[in-house]
Amino acid sequence: MIYFDHSSTTSVRPEVRRVYSQMLENQYGNADSLHTLGRNVHQLMEKSRENIANMLKVLPSEIIFTGCASESNSLAIIGYALANKHRGNHILVSNVEHPSVTNSVEFLKQFGFEIEYLPINERGIITPELVQSRMRKDTILVSTMHVNNEMGAINPIQEISKVVHRNPTCAYHVDCVQSFTKIDVPFHCIDLATISAHKIHGLKGSALLMKKKNIQLMPLIQGGQQEQGLRGGTENAPANIALAKTIRLALEEQAVVYDKVSKINQYLREEISKIPGSHINSKEEALPYILNISFDAITSEVLLNALDQKGICVSAKSTCSSHQRNYSSTLVAMGYSEKIATHMIRLSFGKDNTMKEAQTFIEACKEIINNYGLSL
Ligand code: PLP
Repeated sequence: MIYFDHSSTTSVRPEVRRVYSQMLENQYGNADSLHTLGRNVHQLMEKSRENIANMLKVLPSEIIFTGCASESNSLAIIGYALANKHRGNHILVSNVEHPSVTNSVEFLKQFGFEIEYLPINERGIITPELVQSRMRKDTILVSTMHVNNEMGAINPIQEISKVVHRNPTCAYHVDCVQSFTKIDVPFHCIDLATISAHKIHGLKGSALLMKKKNIQLMPLIQGGQQEQGLRGGTENAPANIALAKTIRLALEEQAVVYDKVSKINQYLREEISKIPGSHINSKEEALPYILNISFDAITSEVLLNALDQKGICVSAKSTCSSHQRNYSSTLVAMGYSEKIATHMIRLSFGKDNTMKEAQTFIEACKEIINNYGLSL
């Protein structure tokens, strides 16, 4: 099997699996229990939090363990807005966010929040100038993803942050799910950052929200004092403990894997552009882990299924919206035609992909277009 769908999810590293299963076997105590078993788990989990904080160069108290990035995004946006309503009710968000962001801001409308969507430009990014032009005195929150999950476009986080922070009562939330451990994330200039473990060879059901210490949130899950009272419920200590290892191993490999996927990406760009009626939709400057392409001769769905039959996994659009519209709204927002948007597939690479797999993919595409392609 050839797996080119790492932006949807990734395999779990054996080292992470080992830590997790050791925890399940030996350290099943409740991190809040006062006996030895509970205290041991608590200690291991707090050590993990400390290690993660060191890697992100933030404080341990700024790491909130959650169950998925969707939860982190919801807590960041709804939690922040509800706790800071007295400061203003205007929220800026990009128009190509993950549904966990867009649905969170839409949910806030019933509480009187005014949501303004920032359009990405033709390169797929939000410019600081645009943010500047839409900032108001009552803007309390700006939310943009770091790397776009369909195109790999990279938002200029540091520059946007400068604009956001000219307003001292405004916070900046960044969904770093597709960027973390692939490129450097400037955590020092972000107030709230979302990270997911299963996108970086960690466990499903494991994620975190980085929340700077001066940022107030309203909890979404009411319960005990876990996670500073921001997330009630017995903590998933085994997953939270495995997360430090997941992050450490991914960061250690960041440069090597970046180089590897860049070469695969470059090779595919060259070979795909030789196929008549092909389009490389991801811009040259995009994150090399994501390559969005279209062929005039074949729709997304037909190509995805034909590749699947050959044992090649790709995405037709981001997985979370794959059961909704049949075209990519990100491509349309970037100004691509509806045809390109309905014909697009997303390839997303990971540490184990090889050049040989890229060559097999090219041969498979040529064959499929020959067999099933529409005559142009
Ligand atoms: N944000 C982005 C940019 C994503 O790509 C995804 C998943 O594809 C999510 C959030 C949600 O991640 P999770 O599955 O951990 O909730």
